[in-house]
Amino acid sequence: MISTGRGLPLLMLNGYTFSKNSRGHQLYYCSKLIKGCKARVKLDLQGWVERLRGEHNHPPPQYVQTADGLYMKINKTYSFIPTARGKPLLMVAGYTFSFKRETPDHTFYVCSRYKSTSCPCSCKIDAAGNLVQLREHTHYPPKYVATQYGSYKQIA
Ligand SMILES: [Zn+2]
Ligand SMILES: [Zn+2]
Repeated sequence: MISTGRGLPLLMLNGYTFSKNSRGHQLYYCSKLIKGCKARVKLDLQGWVERLRGEHNHPPPQYVQTADGLYMKINKTYSFIPTARGKPLLMVAGYTFSFKRETPDHTFYVCSRYKSTSCPCSCKIDAAGNLVQLREHTHYPPKYVATQYGSYKQIA
């Protein structure tokens, strides 16, 4: 669940944002509903995704979290997913990356599917926090669900 600073919170799922339907319980529609997107999400009472319906007809918007906890739309962004142990996963456009190594100038990440799919996609973040993505993925993104409690759960 992300706060936009105004109105109802958005649900963020695989890089897409959803707005709560004012009538439905736990029903969220893609923020691009007015543009004809039919994707929608139903949450169960615990805040987990119960159902995902419809396909998006557009690429995901890109959001970045600012220091005060609000999210802003920008063109190129990434976020971190806390893990139970070790370094957090890096998430870029719905794909997750595992920490590889750090140098004074860059932090290197490899695709979290590297072991299972031999995906060659890796990326690095420079000292200023800019993301440099190097290669294309050879697979679809894993499906992670952000819960309203700020934790993540992998659903596929
Ligand atoms: Zn959509
Ligand atoms: Zn990959």
